[in-house]
Amino acid sequence: MKKKLSLPMQILIALVLGIIVGLICYFAKWGAFTTNYLKPIGDIFVNLLKFIVVPVVLLSMIQGIISMEDMKKVGSVGWKTVVYFLCTTAIACVIGLVFANIFKAANLFPVLDGSGAEYEAKEYGGFMSTLVAIFPTNMWQSFSTANMLQVIVIALLFGGSILAAGEKARVVRNLVDSMYSVVEKLMSFVISLAPIGVFTYMAWVVATQGAEILGSLALVLLCAYLAYIVHAICVYSVAAKGFGKVNPLTFFKKASPAMIFAFTSTSSAATLPVSEKCATDMGADKDVASFVLPLGATINMDGTAIYQCVATVFLASCAGMPLTIGNMVLVVVTATLASIGTAGVSGAGMIMLAMVLEAIGVPVAYIGLIVAVDRLFDMGRTCLNVTGDISCSLCVTQWERKKAARKAAK
Ligand code: ASP
Repeated sequence: MKKKLSLPMQILIALVLGIIVGLICYFAKWGAFTTNYLKPIGDIFVNLLKFIVVPVVLLSMIQGIISMEDMKKVGSVGWKTVVYFLCTTAIACVIGLVFANIFKAANLFPVLDGSGAEYEAKEYGGFMSTLVAIFPTNMWQSFSTANMLQVIVIALLFGGSILAAGEKARVVRNLVDSMYSVVEKLMSFVISLAPIGVFTYMAWVVATQGAEILGSLALVLLCAYLAYIVHAICVYSVAAKGFGKVNPLTFFKKASPAMIFAFTSTSSAATLPVSEKCATDMGADKDVASFVLPLGATINMDGTAIYQCVATVFLASCAGMPLTIGNMVLVVVTATLASIGTAGVSGAGMIMLAMVLEAIGVPVAYIGLIVAVDRLFDMGRTCLNVTGDISCSLCVTQWERKKAARKAAK
């Protein structure tokens, strides 16, 4: 019997074929064909993934909390996860700033005239109202608008209450279990279609955005991608080996389906089902992964933080504004916060970039200079965002195992 190609292999082949077909369409000037006929097929897959993301996040987190059996373990996993997210994001900002400053000092960034650039930033209500908005008033509204932070709060509240209700909640536990099994089946079905999504999106991006890659922003893109790669190699290899007990090469190999899917779909939330599979295949505990990954897809965005730092330095140089050390520290702080507030959907990082620019006084309209190539930045940053979530689930798994072993030895 012929052996079926593994999913990672299928996704890799789809990626390569997508690039080849995209290049052919680019040179034959068939960009419109890819936009009209290939991209919509990719959109169908992303729609399917988006459609299951609310049930996946909700049920996977409740399930994770229930199987931890104890709110203390939830707390212990929770604080380790958040500390890991904050530290890696702050490191990402520093790496992004170092690369951006090297490129700027070497005069590699183009100086574009931003006076005619147009971009309308979203209004922010400030920190306190953002905090208040995390708490839902109507659960159905949170689901229907896919407000992931609110969905996470709902999952935490219900998960905790199910544990607190103990034996009386047995029926609800079984219901969550059974519903999650159904959603898991649905996820595997949608994931099995991923190669088609990867192929169509890749062909479309290469065919329609090839010109921009060759254009004046190529070096800014290069700067961001170098920083993404250095962060992945230094931070995630060290984390995988040092804490997660996984060889870095194995880590990247096994994380590759999620990385490629994130790269082409530009949505961490849509990639969630694939990342859950990659993390558990690599040995992450299911309860930990079910908790860490949905949270990570919503608040942990190392790639976005790097992008925001690089873009800020670049746009400040276009505006003729030298950045002081104080400005840089402010960029690290605001980019870390802005990346936390960034939703795991396509293009969200650019919307939150306005917050960083505003903090240091660069005109927000300058975002107009990079809007056209945002998808190209987004592909790399989403790939990094998802890799960071997977690495965190492995590290927290090991930390929790060590803690349990220490307890058992006492
Ligand atoms: N697309 C990114 C993600 O889903 C967010 C961003 O735009 O930076 O992770």
